[in-house]
Amino acid sequence: MIVIIGTGLAGYTLAREFRKLDPDTPLTLITADDGRSYSKPMLSNGLAKQKTPDQLAMADASRMAAQLNATLLTDTRVETIDTVGHRLVANGEVIEYRKLVLAVGASPIRLPLKGDGADDVLHVNDLTNYAVFRARLEGKKRVAIIGAGLIGCEFANDLVSSGYQAVVMGLGDTPLDTLIPAAAGADVKAGLAEAGVEFRLGASAQMVEKHGNAYRVVLDKGEAVDADLVLSAIGLRPDVRLAQAAGITVNRGIVTNANLQTSATDVYALGDCAEVEGVVRLYVMPIMQGARALAKTLVGETTAASYPVMPVVIKTPARPVVVVPGEGEWTCAATDAGVRCECRDGESLTGFCLTGDAVSEKQALTAAMTQA
Ligand SMILES: Cc1cc2nc3c(=O)[nH]c(=O)nc-3n(C[C@H](O)[C@H](O)[C@H](O)COP(=O)(O)OP(=O)(O)OC[C@H]3O[C@@H](n4cnc5c(N)ncnc54)[C@H](O)[C@@H]3O)c2cc1C
Repeated sequence: MIVIIGTGLAGYTLAREFRKLDPDTPLTLITADDGRSYSKPMLSNGLAKQKTPDQLAMADASRMAAQLNATLLTDTRVETIDTVGHRLVANGEVIEYRKLVLAVGASPIRLPLKGDGADDVLHVNDLTNYAVFRARLEGKKRVAIIGAGLIGCEFANDLVSSGYQAVVMGLGDTPLDTLIPAAAGADVKAGLAEAGVEFRLGASAQMVEKHGNAYRVVLDKGEAVDADLVLSAIGLRPDVRLAQAAGITVNRGIVTNANLQTSATDVYALGDCAEVEGVVRLYVMPIMQGARALAKTLVGETTAASYPVMPVVIKTPARPVVVVPGEGEWTCAATDAGVRCECRDGESLTGFCLTGDAVSEKQALTAAMTQA
């Protein structure tokens, strides 16, 4: 039997790819959540798309089980894995596997905030906590977002485009500073500010105090941000706990080779939890690539996952951004269309970042990198 732990994009995409190649081998998917299938990227533009949390679910667990000809165990947390005995324990039950795939995702990084409002800070990383966020948003106006990265900026854009106020706080001097060059970040900041997003950058959130039904986020420089809700979006950390407890090698993520094989025989890792040949990729496209390769491996055709140039499209329609992070030196130029940056290592193009209407150059630059 093949067992997949996790029914996020990684678990379900792999199950689909596997079923294309092998319609019959028993397949079990185990998930700690309710097993609804949804597209996680939609969580940060659900307001603009006028979707309720329930409308973001594309299929429930029983429909997925039928579609995949699989057994689906929902609300079931895998507690331990015995990699030598090829079995695991979930909700006290022992389940044996021939091959096991860890697709357990990543968890939001939590800031050690002080104050009596710290426990009310929201994190959105799945449909369940998105539903909590939307319920808490009801009747509210102003949202403080801790974190000026991809997820923080996307939520801010979504909120202001739907009539809310959003204040984004971040450590860097420009938004998205760990992902894109400062010149591009400054342009994104200008675009989002024009759309109504407020920024408090170069500052760290220290404390969240309750003030009646609202909150005050106190920053390290003494400044404070008042809001009705506080959302933390400071990043995600691959979930390695289960693998680590089972003696599987972990680093930043669950360590795998190019075939997505972990240090344990017949155990693989895919998606946000995996560190493939030293790289953690917290995006959808690498999951699609990895799932196709791993499905082949699971049917006996050992296949390495290959990752083409995969631009990351950031969902900030107020100032569109696309980036391929690169190694080397960045040079940026502002044009009438937007900011255009190239990253070069010597002569070779290793990455690019485009903002505004300059994103129309995405295909051409992707092709240039692919041919290089
Ligand atoms: C708001 C937001 C917006 C995003 N936007 C984009 C975007 O525009 N483009 C893009 O490329 N990427 C985007 N991403 C990233 C992308 O969504 C993720 O890379 C992808 O969804 C991760 O899928 P996954 O299956 O690896 O993990 P998850 O979806 O986190 O799934 C993990 C699964 O493992 C289960 N699980 C965990 N531990 C256990 C256990 N012990 N026992 C049983 N089950 C367990 C969970 O219940 C869950 O089913 C976004 C992410 C977020 C949060």
